[in-house]
Amino acid sequence: MTRTQPAKRRELILRSAVQQGLLEPDHAVLAGFIDLDGVLASITNLHRAFPASLNVMHTVAAKANCLVPVLEAFSRNGMGCEVASPGELAQALAAGFAPERIVYDSPSKTRAELAQALELGVAVNADNFQELERMDGILAGRASDSRIGVRINPQVGSGDIAAMSTATLTSKFGIALEDDGNRRRLIQEFQDRPWLTWLHAHVGSQGCPLELMAEGIAKTVALAEEINASLGRRQVVGIDIGGGLPVNFTGDDTAPTFDEYVERLRAYAPALFSGAYQIVTEFGRSLLAKNGYTAAYVEYTKTSGGRRIVITHAGAQVAARTVFMPDSWPIRITAHNPSGHLKEGATAPQDIAGPCCFAGDVVAQARSLPVLEPGDIVTLLDTGAYYFSTPFHYNSLPDPAVYAVHTNPDGEVKFDLVRRAESIQELLDRTGAHQL
Ligand SMILES: *Cc1c(COP(=O)(O)O)cnc(C)c1O
Repeated sequence: MTRTQPAKRRELILRSAVQQGLLEPDHAVLAGFIDLDGVLASITNLHRAFPASLNVMHTVAAKANCLVPVLEAFSRNGMGCEVASPGELAQALAAGFAPERIVYDSPSKTRAELAQALELGVAVNADNFQELERMDGILAGRASDSRIGVRINPQVGSGDIAAMSTATLTSKFGIALEDDGNRRRLIQEFQDRPWLTWLHAHVGSQGCPLELMAEGIAKTVALAEEINASLGRRQVVGIDIGGGLPVNFTGDDTAPTFDEYVERLRAYAPALFSGAYQIVTEFGRSLLAKNGYTAAYVEYTKTSGGRRIVITHAGAQVAARTVFMPDSWPIRITAHNPSGHLKEGATAPQDIAGPCCFAGDVVAQARSLPVLEPGDIVTLLDTGAYYFSTPFHYNSLPDPAVYAVHTNPDGEVKFDLVRRAESIQELLDRTGAHQL
């Protein structure tokens, strides 16, 4: 069997983690790993994709991996941060992002959240007309350094995953551009508010073709031109194009690439590259997913109704999307022996199940893998975004430990703790034990 370079690297990381006791069959049955060398390479690819002559600020979407030391790696490497809740804002500040490098998007900002963001000088994208009015009240009292924009829904349609498509006719996000009267009203909103200077669109995430995303951005840029022409001044100075580049969950290739997306954007929205606009991006999954994986021990195996079932310690608590929407979020799984070496030998279809007490807690059905035994290890690949970083608290399973991985020039693997595994005491604290 030939192994690809990424597969060899993942195996080396797993073997090192076992050797160093980070994975251990009694007390450390589950952990997440984030490859910081890979994250750095993804950041470099993103920066290189856009022409250096443009004024672009790349932010990472905090929700994709909100672990503060992971966000800190982005802040250290020249990125900004997109946040969508007071918690994410606090995480971004703790990770060292300057307020002017933070962008606050969310469809449900309270008055207090808006006032705090505007006070700090964090960039804010309003989601709707009511939020703009709310900001009038706050800004009447005091000036703010915040760049302020409004999110539009370019209504270009749906990708393959309805729950990930944010630019459908009826999406809950942004101001629906094509609805009766909205285009005219948007121009008036800009006319009335000299402080409103940015447009924002995030067309969708996983499952959206590049053409659909580029079409949404093209409509946003066209609106900016229309507003500026109609006001007779260049009031819209920046376009926040959101994130949403899809990730390949079927193999090791990065596809599509940031370069391919930029090429498509150039074709659909040439004015974005004219130099007339500042640009913000908000990628999450495409920077992180392929740079992380989850490792879990196999506790038991059995056969039911002729089906081989493998009970592991990774289920819905770290792979909620895959468990609840298996057809939309299939992930690759690898099989390893207790020392972390890739398992070889006879394969058989096996259900890879998790520890949660509901029947659907299965991360892969009838997956052909080398036959797994108790004490073996499985890895869930491409889970660096939206998986172990945001666990689901079902069955009071603790949040797993997460480690950042770097490789020394001599090939030695080094781990830094990103988040320790939640203790039973911490778990009791978050479930109200202190109220007794
Ligand atoms: C989730 C989200 C992102 C990041 O999306 P990815 O698919 O992870 O790139 C960016 N912007 C907004 C507004 C979002 O909601």
